[in-house]
Amino acid sequence: MRGMSLLVKNALLVTMDASRRVFRGDLLAEGEKILRVGVIAGRDMVGLSKLSVLDGTGLWCLPGLVQTHVHLCQTLFRNQAEELPLLDWLQQRIWPLEAALDEDALDASARLGIAELFASGTTCILDMGTVRHTDVLFEAAKQTGLRFIGGKAMMDDPASFPALRELSDDSLAESDRLASRWDGKENGRLRYAYAPRFALSCSDRLLRAVGERVAGGGRLHTHASESAAECEIVRTSRGMSNIRYLERTGLCGARSVLAHCVHPAEGELGLLAETDTAVAHCPSSNLKLGSGIAPVPDMIARGIRVGLGADGAPCNNWLDAFTEMRLAALLPKPRSGPAALPAAKIVEMATIGGAAALGLEHETGSLEVGKQADLVLVDPRGLHATPGGDDIYTTVVHALRASDVRATVAAGTLVYRDGELKTMNADAVRRRAEEQWGKVRKRAGL
Ligand SMILES: [Zn+2]
Repeated sequence: MRGMSLLVKNALLVTMDASRRVFRGDLLAEGEKILRVGVIAGRDMVGLSKLSVLDGTGLWCLPGLVQTHVHLCQTLFRNQAEELPLLDWLQQRIWPLEAALDEDALDASARLGIAELFASGTTCILDMGTVRHTDVLFEAAKQTGLRFIGGKAMMDDPASFPALRELSDDSLAESDRLASRWDGKENGRLRYAYAPRFALSCSDRLLRAVGERVAGGGRLHTHASESAAECEIVRTSRGMSNIRYLERTGLCGARSVLAHCVHPAEGELGLLAETDTAVAHCPSSNLKLGSGIAPVPDMIARGIRVGLGADGAPCNNWLDAFTEMRLAALLPKPRSGPAALPAAKIVEMATIGGAAALGLEHETGSLEVGKQADLVLVDPRGLHATPGGDDIYTTVVHALRASDVRATVAAGTLVYRDGELKTMNADAVRRRAEEQWGKVRKRAGL
């Protein structure tokens, strides 16, 4: 059976394929997949039903942007947790607020986040949920069309925040249930990743049990070495440096993504490279919480897969990949010179490189026949981007903004076009977010 088909006509295709081809042409998708890239004639469309056409004249078509570290559960907390360092930010604001989320509030938070992601060109994320109600996040991703790897946050350490703390066996059982319910669903658009929150919120036993699941083929998503204070507490309480400890408990490997890694200890970058562990670089969040600047050029030089992530709305406060691209490009330059992390590398991190960090490079991250039709159309003709330069990647990273996104397509479905969300109602999302935030704030007593 042939499903919906979509034709992007006459756009500049920034393919991000292996030879990084950039050319003016068309792209045809049938159902979820890219059927043809190049010049598409009438005969190529014979037999295709329900064809919708996106006129790409004057626009650039890029792969849908990939973010490797997001918390949709925190979108409701935007503008509510300011000017605090990581551990205080968590203790005083984020954990009390997460503990006050019920299913309705979590759903409102997820949809607000997804709406913003689509409007700014992101089609795929790795998400960390909160401790409870994780099915709600998968349902929201399923219904709206987002490519989503998610997992419930695991927090069983006796010193964890009491209102979120869970029993180790319950945490594992609920994670296993979610994995079997959601992993691979919607033709692989939804995936599960085990998500111990960070070393400090988890018992050694829990981490080792998750490590066994990772050894058995499971995905892993956690925070690591985000702040110096966190690293110091891990060293004192666990007797070794943070990333080494995660490796000893079985959490490093080709299916693992560690968010931040701002403060790797001696030898830990080598450990990440040896174990083929990926890193999610979150420049806005690292700056806003005062955490520091991750040594990304060193990571890249060692062959570590590095993706970008906005992290959560309360530590950014946007979920916009364009901002992360620009900051990721700027941050290393004072130390390593203006040529450090060139724009082409940054665009790679936000597309095919981000997909590779998630192990999804054969499905998304580039415009190639047979891959998922995840793409974004951007308009390079804004006053702030004029006159256009010769280097497409430099323009994307340093001159374009989220507001230059004209259309977003995820798995062949048009989810955003010219200011309008297609799989959700923006007014309803905004109203519900305000209403649910009011309830959460009251329940949290903040
Ligand atoms: Zn995070």
